[in-house]
Amino acid sequence: MRRKLAAGNWKMNGLSASVSEVTALTSTHVAPKVDVLLCPPATLISGLATAAAGHPLAIGGQDCHTAMSGAHTGDISAEQLRDAGATAVLVGHSERRTDHSEDDAQIRQKAEAAQAAALTAVICIGETLSQRENGATLDVVKTQLDGSTPDNATGANTVIAYEPVWAIGTGIVPTLDQIGEVHSFIRAELVARFGEEGHAIRILYGGSVKPANAADIFGVEDVDGALVGGASLKAADFSPIITALENA
Ligand code: PEP
Repeated sequence: MRRKLAAGNWKMNGLSASVSEVTALTSTHVAPKVDVLLCPPATLISGLATAAAGHPLAIGGQDCHTAMSGAHTGDISAEQLRDAGATAVLVGHSERRTDHSEDDAQIRQKAEAAQAAALTAVICIGETLSQRENGATLDVVKTQLDGSTPDNATGANTVIAYEPVWAIGTGIVPTLDQIGEVHSFIRAELVARFGEEGHAIRILYGGSVKPANAADIFGVEDVDGALVGGASLKAADFSPIITALENA
């Protein structure tokens, strides 16, 4: 039985005052029936982890280096994220793949670094609009899934986030059939590669999830939760998404 997960990605948003959003979430969701994870910018990990201490709200990073330490100016390691209070990290978000030319091999190394530091790796994959229009969605998803996921992936150390690039931050959401097709494909691929453990790895949907569409998306088979960008910034938006997942 997979425990559902509502994950928020704050991207490059948030200042120290944003800790009030965590306080609002922990007071509204005292004992959530699902896992809740917030991934703020690195500057806020420690503060948010302190604010969330004692509450069932996990804090994660948005990226990590493939190495644990060394001469990598401006980067952050999985061990440093863990030290700051994170228990998870996003790897391979499409904005990292685009802005920093990250490829599947590098993302797999980042996921391995995360696992070595006892962080859950949330591995993001998804096709662009032109890839979808060319009928290449499942090929792209398979290539990214195979290339970015470490061989030792388990339900405990790995989450897959399917995020069609054309749905991220656009307000455009795939149809429920389109979401269901890709999620069941990913599930079959995970089971083919990892056997029974493939059933334990959670698959999140990401891309313009809002309070108004969350319940429908969470009703799709093999959607184990969501990775939410814009609507995770305010507790008033993220809270009803968590509730929708609890009720799914
Ligand atoms: C994301 O950043 O991963 C994301 C899904 O963003 P949004 O929810 O804003 O589309």
